[in-house]
Amino acid sequence: MGVGSFLPLGYLQEVMDCMSEAFWLVTSDDRRPILVDLGSQDKRAFRDDAIEITMYSVGKGEAIVISRGGRAILVDGGAGNKAKNDVLGGALAARLAPGSLRAIVASHPHRDHTNFYRVLAQRPDLFAQGAKYFDNGTQKAEDDWKRLRKSQANLPFVREAVGHQRARDGDNRIPLGPGVEVHLVRGKTRAKSRAVQAYWSVFLFLRYRDAWMLFTGDAMKGYEKLLLPRLEDISGRAHMLKVTHHGSSDGTSPDLVTSLRPRISIVSTAKDPTHRIEKDVRERLSDSEIYATYDLKRPPPRAEDIIVRTDGRLWGVNGFEGVLFEVSTQTPALT
Ligand SMILES: [Zn+2]
Repeated sequence: MGVGSFLPLGYLQEVMDCMSEAFWLVTSDDRRPILVDLGSQDKRAFRDDAIEITMYSVGKGEAIVISRGGRAILVDGGAGNKAKNDVLGGALAARLAPGSLRAIVASHPHRDHTNFYRVLAQRPDLFAQGAKYFDNGTQKAEDDWKRLRKSQANLPFVREAVGHQRARDGDNRIPLGPGVEVHLVRGKTRAKSRAVQAYWSVFLFLRYRDAWMLFTGDAMKGYEKLLLPRLEDISGRAHMLKVTHHGSSDGTSPDLVTSLRPRISIVSTAKDPTHRIEKDVRERLSDSEIYATYDLKRPPPRAEDIIVRTDGRLWGVNGFEGVLFEVSTQTPALT
C-alpha cells in the first residue's frame, strides 16, 4: 500500500516529526534528562515561545545560528574544505531571514570556523543595522579582520574584540529580545605563541529565562579551567553544552562537566577520523544526551543538522520539574 496516498498530510507530518524529534526534561538534580511525551497543543505553545539553536552540518568545521523572534546570532561559520566554503556559506545565507543577523561571534580565528564570513559579508541584506562582529582580540584575529575588510570595503558589521580583562561579564551587547541574556567571555593562558593563542575561544553563555547554554569554540582543557570560575559566577549551570573542538579529548574537562552539569550536548563532527567524539569525552558526558552532526553511534551514519529549542520555562511532568528542551535532527543537512 502506498502510505502517502491514503493518509492525510497532517498525519504524515506527525510521523516524520516523530522520527527526528525528542523532548527532554532537564531537572536541577543529578538525574539524566527525562524523555517526555508532549501533546500537539503543548508542542505548538512550546515552539512558539522557544529560542532556537541550529548547528549545521558543515563537515570539518562549525556553524551555529541562535535565533529568537526574527533576530539571530551566528556563532562561527566555516568548513575545512576550501572548495566547499562558498557553496556552504551561500547555503547558510539562504537559510537566514533578511535583516535578522545582530552579530557574528568569531570564537577563534581558525579557517574552519571563519571561512563563511567573506560570503556573508556580501549579503548586507541579512544584517540588522549596527550588527557587530566579535572576535578573540588576538593578533591572528586582527589579521583575519583586516583580510575581511580587504575583501569588501563596506562591511555590514563593526568589529569589537573581546578582551580577557573585561571587568564585568555579561553586558549583553547582543540584543536578542526579552528574556535573553548573552555573555561573551574570553580568557588568556600563558601561551606566547600565536598558534596557541588562536585557541583562546570566546565563550558565549546564553540565558533564555531559566535555561542556560554554553558555546565554547575550540577551547582546550587548560583554558576551560581558567574560565570556569567566571562561568560559575555567571550561572553555575549549563543545561546545554556546545562541546568544544569537535569532540576532541583536548577539551571538555571533567571539571567543566562536573561543575556545569550539561545534560544536552551538541557536537560538530565529520566523517573524517579527526573530527569525532573521542571515547573519554563521551564517557565524561555520560549523563548527557549527545547529538553530533555526523555520529557513528547513531546508525546509519549520516550528516544531520541539529536543532535545539527551549522555551526556558520550568515544566512539571510526571512529578518532575525542569527545563524542557526539544532536540531534532534534520536531513538533508547543509552539507
Ligand atoms: Zn575547529
